[in-house]
Amino acid sequence: MNRTLVLNATYEPLGVVTDRRALILVLNNRATMIESSGTVLHFATGQLELPLVIRLNKFVKIPYRHAVPLSRRAIFARDGGRCVYCHAPATSIDHVIPRSRGGGHNWENVVSACHKCNHVKADKPLKELGWRLRSLPREPVGAAWRILGTGRTESRWLPYLEPFGVSAATA
Ligand SMILES: [Zn+2]
Repeated sequence: MNRTLVLNATYEPLGVVTDRRALILVLNNRATMIESSGTVLHFATGQLELPLVIRLNKFVKIPYRHAVPLSRRAIFARDGGRCVYCHAPATSIDHVIPRSRGGGHNWENVVSACHKCNHVKADKPLKELGWRLRSLPREPVGAAWRILGTGRTESRWLPYLEPFGVSAATA
């Protein structure tokens, strides 16, 4: 079962549904296929393409913003795929305040880091090492980030997520 990206009528990314569910939305005239997945379903009476991206025909007001799930992938994307300490390509995540010292597993305390910095830092607080963060880690806002955090992101979705802050270079 493949997944389909759902955009609001305004093109703002809303979420992800199964491609079968997306096809039903299109057949019921509730959405329009923006991009095909290339997968074709064959019937006795014809054939249908499963969508990769659909756009709702009517604008849907989002009642509230869900929190963005914390994942390694989303942390890397937020931090530009770089180690926050030395700017080398990131290979791991690090808890700024070590968990052993009461640091939380949350957006404000988890950053991307390279293997070397992670190893050197180990259980030490930043102060002890004389290290500093370039900027304070924060939770990113918006549906594009939520979608990135839900798992494998289809590369052909990225042009629809990029205008909302998710970068192709890091996703
Ligand atoms: Zn580093």
